[in-house]
Amino acid sequence: MTRDVLLPGATLGVMGGGQLGRMFVHAAQRMGYFTAVLDPDADSPAGRVSHHHIRSDYLDPQGLEQLAAKAQAITTEFENVPAAALEQLARQRPVAPGAAAVAIAQDRAKEKAHFMKCGVACAPHAVIETPQQLAAVADNLLPGILKTSRLGYDGKGQQRVATREELAAAWDVMKRVPCVLEKMLPLAYECSVVVARGQDGAMVSLPVQRNLHRGGILAITEVYDANVPAAAAQQAVASARAVAEGLGYVGVLCIEFFVLGDGSLVVNEMAPRPHNSGHWSIEGSDVSQFELQVRTLAGLPLTQPRALGPSIMLNLLGDIWFRNGGEQVPPWADVLALSGTHLHLYGKTSARVGRKMGHLTVTGASLEQVRSTARRCAELLG
Ligand code: ADP
Ligand code: MG
Repeated sequence: MTRDVLLPGATLGVMGGGQLGRMFVHAAQRMGYFTAVLDPDADSPAGRVSHHHIRSDYLDPQGLEQLAAKAQAITTEFENVPAAALEQLARQRPVAPGAAAVAIAQDRAKEKAHFMKCGVACAPHAVIETPQQLAAVADNLLPGILKTSRLGYDGKGQQRVATREELAAAWDVMKRVPCVLEKMLPLAYECSVVVARGQDGAMVSLPVQRNLHRGGILAITEVYDANVPAAAAQQAVASARAVAEGLGYVGVLCIEFFVLGDGSLVVNEMAPRPHNSGHWSIEGSDVSQFELQVRTLAGLPLTQPRALGPSIMLNLLGDIWFRNGGEQVPPWADVLALSGTHLHLYGKTSARVGRKMGHLTVTGASLEQVRSTARRCAELLG
């Protein structure tokens, strides 16, 4: 849909009230937009900072009606927004990304099929939706990881399996919902790239991010010159662009990759929205992933982002509230006494082990300095 540019003063809507929505709202408001968030939770991180918060279920036609009445264009902050909700909104307002792209990203089997269609290599895998498909799994996919096709995140909905017996048992535990079995790959490291594509097809990308996961959850992202070899970085950006192009995508898209021992890249998954591994860009880049989301939604021009220096992002999980037995506030003042630390807390009402409560970005003049500050932060919080 070609349409007019929405200038500051317009209202931008977002489906979902989590931390990604909150940071989108912050970016939009900084630029002079009004914001409307739809989320059922009265205490949602984004709902609490938005000009308008529509408390309704994602599929409630009246709630969607209210969002479309308030907002001139609508985006989404988590990929499990029902496609039907985006379709209803799209009948009244521009919606970016579109329902079709979000539906593909919601389903690992469809997502992998799309990667292959775009000529982007993914891990050897098999779709398991029937007992026949389970029986037909090739031996070379084991050991592997059985992942539910839908609704997995932060390592949830996954089970490592070494034998056919373990595979069958794991599928039973998952109540035989549609799954993908992926071969377990020997990872040298992981990286991701955030691209933004405008309504006119113009694309820009953030620098490639190098990521460390712990227990299936992102723990650390590092961005600095040559954090990944140039050939891998080029391939990551080219792959992400091909995937976005193939979807006719409008908005911010993150693609995660595995890098194998020989330096080759295998795509892992995509997120049709800003991503945890791009949070460093709020302070570390001249244009953040959330500003890119605002620009693509409003139809503003995109400029190629530039890293301002090295950055390291540390995720703050609920675990650090429970370090010494009882619940206690982490030592924020000590962390903020170190220069170059930028604290983000998402305003979640209660800390829980494994829950993403916030993140900390460390910026500085040199990689050595940023690394040593990040290490000190980890000691203070660990
Ligand atoms: P989620 O949707 O929960 O983020 P992912 O599929 O990205 O799930 O898996 C989470 C993490 O588990 C990955 O970032 C990676 O560290 C590890 N992992 C996932 N699939 C594989 C694989 N095929 N081989 C090796 N490690 C994997
Ligand atoms: Mg992942």
